[in-house]
Amino acid sequence: MRPKEFVYHRARDLDHALALLAEHGEEARPISGGQSLVPMMNLRLARPDHLVDVNDLGLDEIREEAGALHVGAMVRHERYLTDPLIRRHLPALLEAVHWIGHPTIRRNGTLGGSLCHADPTAELPAMAVLHGARIVLASTAGRREVAACDFFKGAYMTDVQPGEMLVSVIFPCPQGAHSGAFEELGERLGDFAMGSFGVVLEHEGGVIRRAATVCGGAKMTPIRLPEIEAALQGQTLAGLDAAALGDRVTGLIAPAGDFQVSAEYRRALIGELAGRALQRARDIALNAQP
Ligand SMILES: Cc1cc2nc3c(=O)[nH]c(=O)nc-3n(C[C@H](O)[C@H](O)[C@H](O)COP(=O)(O)OP(=O)(O)OC[C@H]3O[C@@H](n4cnc5c(N)ncnc54)[C@H](O)[C@@H]3O)c2cc1C
Repeated sequence: MRPKEFVYHRARDLDHALALLAEHGEEARPISGGQSLVPMMNLRLARPDHLVDVNDLGLDEIREEAGALHVGAMVRHERYLTDPLIRRHLPALLEAVHWIGHPTIRRNGTLGGSLCHADPTAELPAMAVLHGARIVLASTAGRREVAACDFFKGAYMTDVQPGEMLVSVIFPCPQGAHSGAFEELGERLGDFAMGSFGVVLEHEGGVIRRAATVCGGAKMTPIRLPEIEAALQGQTLAGLDAAALGDRVTGLIAPAGDFQVSAEYRRALIGELAGRALQRARDIALNAQP
């Protein structure tokens, strides 16, 4: 298994990377951690003529600004596990990262690479959709922001245009008291998920003020479930019937089957995962009550 021949460019800084991407257009691909692109090239599923290595660009900051976390494209998955801002503001994301592949994948893989690879059941794309994140793309023409729900166009398809690269992701922080949980199931630990479910509950005085949910595996991109979010809003934490809501999730989705699981199994699985995630988010919130 060898890739097609290509020219390797090591970009010195962001301007250099963008100039190289502009010069080579559709024939160029950025390479970050290489955890997805290298296997794809070896299998000749990706055949870029030019690889633009973006590892020397910095873009590895996690900072809090105006009620949001700005996370650089080159932040590697394992960094979240020890970052205090992630622990404080994005607990569902923290849980989700534990499920990404194996230690080597988490050590090398990056946020930009994961979002731009856009595997339908990858954890970080699901977290971007769950948190209503904004994706910041840059090119020689300037910068633009895309809402996560518009960024993912299909399996392995995104809104990134030739000449552009992802530079950061803005995750709005949940407001006030909040809890989050994420559940998934893969065939073996470290495999991509067959299905997943994430939730964030913002609450006050034992009542849910606002809820966000995300489902991985129900479609070719992660999806929010507005009906479930509306049902959660205004509910008391103590009265939340997680299993019943999980059943409701089953009725709202129509996932496809594949070589791993039938459509029916995946539908039931996601409903079960939803019930478990909702139950844990509720329990975490109740235990944190003064
Ligand atoms: C055995 C194995 C198991 C895995 N399990 C999981 C899993 O359970 N969950 C999961 O989510 N992932 C999993 N992965 C994938 C892993 O998380 C990758 O790290 C991630 O998908 C891509 O990140 P990367 O930095 O390595 O990107 P790369 O491989 O470098 O790039 C991936 C794609 O993104 C593009 N790209 C990279 N950076 C940018 C940028 N800044 N702007 C624009 N385009 C860019 C590349 O051109 C390429 O198309 C697994 C991988 C392997 C090999």
